[in-house]
Amino acid sequence: MIIEQIWTGNAYRNFNYLVACEETGEALAIDPLDHQKCLGLAKDRGWTITHILNTHEHGDHTGGNGAMFAATGAKLLAHKNAKDKIPGIDIGLGAGDVVKIGKSVELESLDTPGHTMSHVCLLAHGDRPALFCGDTLFNAGAGHCKGGGHPEDLYNTFATQLAKLSDETLIYPGHDYIDNNLRFTLDREPDNEAAQQILQKTEMQDLDKALISTLALEKEINTFFRLQNPTVIARLREKFDELPEQVDARTVFLKLRELRNNW
Ligand SMILES: [Zn+2]
Ligand SMILES: [Zn+2]
Repeated sequence: MIIEQIWTGNAYRNFNYLVACEETGEALAIDPLDHQKCLGLAKDRGWTITHILNTHEHGDHTGGNGAMFAATGAKLLAHKNAKDKIPGIDIGLGAGDVVKIGKSVELESLDTPGHTMSHVCLLAHGDRPALFCGDTLFNAGAGHCKGGGHPEDLYNTFATQLAKLSDETLIYPGHDYIDNNLRFTLDREPDNEAAQQILQKTEMQDLDKALISTLALEKEINTFFRLQNPTVIARLREKFDELPEQVDARTVFLKLRELRNNW
């Protein structure tokens, strides 16, 4: 399995992806908004795009579909409940469905509501697990819930699915928001040295060769995975004095999400 992350350089800071089978050259395009870059890279590599996946229904993820259909005739995959929101879905995905591309690519569909209620992440089981997480999980952050989602569902997705993946899982999000997200982590937890160090690197980074994090790193630098951290909880209490003595992880997550909305 070969993974190419494509930096679009657009105002929304989208990342698009090609995932190809090295044996057959068949490829999946994930959220190919910048269809010209996706098609150009596939051509350079000699790959045939046979499938397109939309992680969810927002226009900055589906906006390239028409041009991609016209150029490739590829089949479209998306959450099965997105059928009335995304035109032209060929295959609706639910939890546990497996997407096969060529001979070597197998991706498990995870049903991950929260950012929207019809959002899938794809988990690659290969030599190295990899997660294509759309707008659910970002480097050092979490998706917002203002475009058809619910924070409680996002918390459940984080707690019951994402946090349980293998620590070595590579994280491939739908946008580059890492610098702002790290600044939010540091606002909540100023003594987080890992976040300070990563921010020094990412502020200077070339986004065509962006840092690829792992779940282990996210657990260090992503405040939405640090719900038991004493500094995070103490500083949250300064903002929300109604928090009870023993505050549960769900409440911490929801209050962090609320703060991030206006940060
Ligand atoms: Zn979105
Ligand atoms: Zn997006």
